[in-house]
Amino acid sequence: EVRVRFAPSPTGPLHIGGVRTALYNYLLARKLGGKMLLRIEDTDQNRFVPGAEQYIMDSLRWCGIEIDEGIEQGGPHAPYRQSERKPMYRQYAQQLLDSGSAYYAFDTPEELDAMRARLTAAKVPNPQYNSITRAQMRNSLTLPAEEVQQLLDSGAPYVIRLKVPRKEEIRFNDLIRGWVVVHSSSIDDKVLMKSDGMPTYHLANIVDDHLMEITHVIRGEEWLPSAPLHVLLYRYLGWESTMPQFAHLPLLLKPDGTGKLSKRDGDKLGFPVFPLEFHGKDAETGEPTVSSGYRESGYLPEAFINFLAFLGWNPGTQQELFTMDELIEHFSIERVSKSPARFDQNKVRWYNEQYLRAKPDAELAQYLTEELSKQGIAVPAGQAEQIAALVKERATFPADLAKEAQLFFQRPASYDEQVISKKWNPQVAAALAEFAAQLPAAADASAEGIKALLTQVLEAQGIKIGQVLQALRVAVTGNAAGPDLMHIMHILGPQETAERIQAAVA
Ligand code: GLU
Repeated sequence: EVRVRFAPSPTGPLHIGGVRTALYNYLLARKLGGKMLLRIEDTDQNRFVPGAEQYIMDSLRWCGIEIDEGIEQGGPHAPYRQSERKPMYRQYAQQLLDSGSAYYAFDTPEELDAMRARLTAAKVPNPQYNSITRAQMRNSLTLPAEEVQQLLDSGAPYVIRLKVPRKEEIRFNDLIRGWVVVHSSSIDDKVLMKSDGMPTYHLANIVDDHLMEITHVIRGEEWLPSAPLHVLLYRYLGWESTMPQFAHLPLLLKPDGTGKLSKRDGDKLGFPVFPLEFHGKDAETGEPTVSSGYRESGYLPEAFINFLAFLGWNPGTQQELFTMDELIEHFSIERVSKSPARFDQNKVRWYNEQYLRAKPDAELAQYLTEELSKQGIAVPAGQAEQIAALVKERATFPADLAKEAQLFFQRPASYDEQVISKKWNPQVAAALAEFAAQLPAAADASAEGIKALLTQVLEAQGIKIGQVLQALRVAVTGNAAGPDLMHIMHILGPQETAERIQAAVA
């Protein structure tokens, strides 16, 4: 059985890169009939942000990413919050100590600083606690056994480090990148257990992936450097034969491609980088902050996930619009790209337009009615749907519907200057006045009927429709552009339309 997990740390709002990771995990799980787990990796208590966990779950729910096992759902491997699994990590750290794959290290922060300073002074490019430098440090590999025991008995602070071999090629097959080969000399002796008794990410992550029977680890590229270390951990814990397959997803870049899209970019670049609005606190000043979200900005979850799915994956066909079910059907890890994906603000807006305009008019009408009623505007029954159908072609967000609909409830307060100066003249005004005079008695007040009447009036006046159309639009709506004018006049009705034209001509 395929089992995947999304394993966020609750250190703040989930960024769209994180949502994409969750989405790809979910798509694979559903496609292969497997299970999707949500595990909260909260072992770093210094970085814990209240509300972040709830935010993550609300975001996934809004996106339609369903969790099979997790902190809310429970499951056979509960608890799914790492802070509640402490004793398990301790047990495996002990196993590594017993087998000689890990060791105690008693170095104080000052001693560690001094080591780094020494190495830097000796021009060692990347000072590390590793197979070479550990020999000069205070740990259970260098100290006599009795002294180690004494230190432990006296309660001296210590960490547990992984004993990374000096000369070894570590290799694994990444489903996206192919074979990855790393020399162990580039890996340091990572801390597995901190002095507060909490495991680090590396230990907790591997223990949990093993115990939770994870088959595929799909995560962001920023974790690729950790993967060789994880391979070592699987080996030393005796779990190599059931090691999950790795798939490291390509980076998400800023729209101009100049670097990684960061959590801070959103409000700077003028588009959200979070699925939902997030109310947090400024890290330095403690002032309350609000980061904008896709949901609150008027994006539809269908559009958002369709867009996200394409940030790093494509189906290999021309089709761009995919529902969640279609994504599940077509998704494959093989088609995830190795190269970074550039965020494209226009594309996500385009997706939103497609999904918004594809909604049934009745649904758009309901939204329109609610939105306008908040503004104190009552939409006559039967009109909301007509208006929604007409204005949706100009809308990207639901709020645009209400904006575009304003013209039906307000007579023009001013007239577009440019059109007036270019298109308005006594002949046009006279023709429009005649049209207005005949309108209320129109036999056919449909859009076609109104158009026929207009054509007839203009013919009698010896003036072409192209000469008056823009002026007429400005007379009726005030604006130079808008939805189809004949339909606007039909919805307004002959009487209201005539009065608007008369007011403009006067
Ligand atoms: N807790 C890590 C994160 O915040 C999990 C990385 C992984 O999936 O291994 O992304």
